[in-house]
Amino acid sequence: MTDASAETDLDVICARGPEGLLAELTHRCPLQCPYCSNPLALDRANVELSTEEWLDVLRQAADMGVLQIHFSGGEPTVRRDLEDLIAEAARLGLYSNLITAGVLASRERLEGLAECGLDHVQLSIQDAEPQNADRIAAYKQGHEKKMTFARWVRELDLPLTLNAPMHRQNISSLEAIIELALELDAARLEVAHIQYYGWAYVNRAALMPTREQTMWSADVVERAQERLKGVLTIDFVVPDYYAARPKPCMGGWGRRFLNVTPSGRVLPCHAAESIEGLAFDNVRERRLRDIWLNSDAFNKFRGTDWMPEPCRSCEFKEVDWGGCRCQAFAFTGDAAQTDPACNKSSRHRELVALAQSEAAGPPPAFTYRRIQASRTKESVPSA
Ligand code: SF4
Ligand code: SF4
Repeated sequence: MTDASAETDLDVICARGPEGLLAELTHRCPLQCPYCSNPLALDRANVELSTEEWLDVLRQAADMGVLQIHFSGGEPTVRRDLEDLIAEAARLGLYSNLITAGVLASRERLEGLAECGLDHVQLSIQDAEPQNADRIAAYKQGHEKKMTFARWVRELDLPLTLNAPMHRQNISSLEAIIELALELDAARLEVAHIQYYGWAYVNRAALMPTREQTMWSADVVERAQERLKGVLTIDFVVPDYYAARPKPCMGGWGRRFLNVTPSGRVLPCHAAESIEGLAFDNVRERRLRDIWLNSDAFNKFRGTDWMPEPCRSCEFKEVDWGGCRCQAFAFTGDAAQTDPACNKSSRHRELVALAQSEAAGPPPAFTYRRIQASRTKESVPSA
């Protein structure tokens, strides 16, 4: 495709608007996962958008043609107005997905959310083994609460997706996690190897699996996908560090999704704030459609014109859209560089060597995700 036709394609994408919106209602969360995709500088409760502001975001999103709203966080059930937001999403004809850790809501609350029109629940788990799961999340009895929550989801006939972020400290439980998804009657399981930016970048050495473990996990998933066809859908996110080519992160920067942070900043992807020097517009000051179409941050890496070599002349540039800008920034200090996960990047060998050396050593203690100053001591605080 020529640059001129790429522009035309981009105009169509922009005019059509995003398909999905990730509404990060809050950064408050009782868990402290060391791979959390929230930024290192977390928003406090006093800067969060009000109910009215979120309702307006939903209306603007529906007006732009958004089809799906993912209510996320932090932990979205911390917000007392979740019922109002779900009801409004239903009224607007938006498909609503609740992305939750499942440790706070009672059965009555979940039932109320279903009555408001909630369409789908995505529950994150840390492991199939309760003690290790609670250690990773730094939350006592969290796993047990999640199992109870998952059963309520199915009792209320809501579709359930289990999300299992995968890393060196839970990868040996992969087969048990697949069995757990079956036992909980989940329709879908996401086995997602960690993406290394934000908190996960800080904890990279504590999380990085070996190449052999990674290949083993791909093999386990492939066999389970075959065996469980029609019973359980399993999505597998490969770890970038051992891949030959990067993923089309978010389907391409500013092409399919947008993300609204708890305080109203609008991002092309949930990790975009990890890129220093990019300024993001806020729904308190600018309309969502205007931000999507015209903001500097959305246009900065949209399409292919921004690409350096080797991406610029690469046959895959409209397949992976140059991979992940956050990863490029985290590893090279320049978000406009070729994603180092790509084997055509001049930094790729360095990235793989680093991953292998970190995976070979003993895992350091986690730096748990916290609103207060980060800490390194591995202990499980009271829930
Ligand atoms: S990844 Fe863990 S700490 Fe981060 S929002 Fe989800 S449950 Fe909370
Ligand atoms: S060179 Fe760029 S466009 Fe080509 S595969 Fe690598 S990251 Fe993708």
